[in-house]
Amino acid sequence: MSASVPPRVVVLAGGVGGAKFTLGARAALAALDAPEATVVVNTGDDLWLSGVRLQPDIDSVLYALGGQNDTVRGWGRAGDTERVNAELQAWGAGWPWFTLGDLDLGTHLARTGWLRDGATVTEVVDRLSRRWPLGVRLLPMTDTEVDTHVLLRDGARMHFQEWWTRHRASLEPAAFENPGIEQSVPAPGVVEAIADADVVLLAPSNPVVSIGPILSVPGVRQALATTPARVVGVSPIIGGRVVRGMADVCLTAIGVETSAAAVAAHYGARSSGGVLDAWLVAEEDADAAASVDALGIRAVVAPLWMTDVPASAALATTALRA
Ligand code: GDP
Ligand code: CA
Repeated sequence: MSASVPPRVVVLAGGVGGAKFTLGARAALAALDAPEATVVVNTGDDLWLSGVRLQPDIDSVLYALGGQNDTVRGWGRAGDTERVNAELQAWGAGWPWFTLGDLDLGTHLARTGWLRDGATVTEVVDRLSRRWPLGVRLLPMTDTEVDTHVLLRDGARMHFQEWWTRHRASLEPAAFENPGIEQSVPAPGVVEAIADADVVLLAPSNPVVSIGPILSVPGVRQALATTPARVVGVSPIIGGRVVRGMADVCLTAIGVETSAAAVAAHYGARSSGGVLDAWLVAEEDADAAASVDALGIRAVVAPLWMTDVPASAALATTALRA
């Protein structure tokens, strides 16, 4: 990235962690007078429930960038109510442990209606993106339904949302699968955006169930391998722990230690068939820098806490310069 030409940026993102990072990237790019970033969002969390299509990660990013998210609760719409949800429960419909807010249901109904009318997921996300000025271009990773399933040690299988929300990741997973993903293709614009980028940023999202599905869409890894852009990742692990959520359980299931260095090794160096040129590790994990460098990935030690938008923007600026 030269000092005078603002960079074209692609962000690969999951839900809440991805949204916090994207808020920072948007601010950092605005300060550079750079074009709007393209944000490629995980759709592995998507599901059908009570007849409507939910896209939790897309909506987390949409609501956060649109200034509509509930910052206290950490998910959903600010000021939402649950009248319809109470009716669904009274009917015994849906999942009793999965709350759908009234405003949120408005989004799901709009989305489902457009899908029923024949719109692609990309077209639906584009329509959802027009209501509030987002300051980024949102793309789903693929138009195909490739919902993440969890295969349990005892052989049972369930949708990721049931494992995560109902069982709080307490059932021991053996594997995460996205049925149909081998036949899927990246959503229109994804490969092109990566090819035309100066920097691709991997948000500090869950490496297994947020970034993992994006990288599993055939063609995405190839696009990352061949882009002239630098590919820079941000560790979701700080001080050997996940910041929030249960990424540690997901990492353990796929045989990856919960550490900044192990996640970097899991992504791999672009120079040896992986995806990363550089990896931001927390100051708390400065010890990991040497082993990351030894992988052929440039380690950059920086503050990684996304406590507010200025902190996320500073983090994104460091990533852009890495
Ligand atoms: P989800 O889809 O809503 O679960 O969110 P993501 O997958 O996008 O992000 C979840 C990940 O974000 C978790 O693994 C957290 O460790 C990570 N995370 C959350 N807050 C922070 C933060 O302040 N700094 C860093 N570096 N990672 C964070
Ligand atoms: Ca998610």
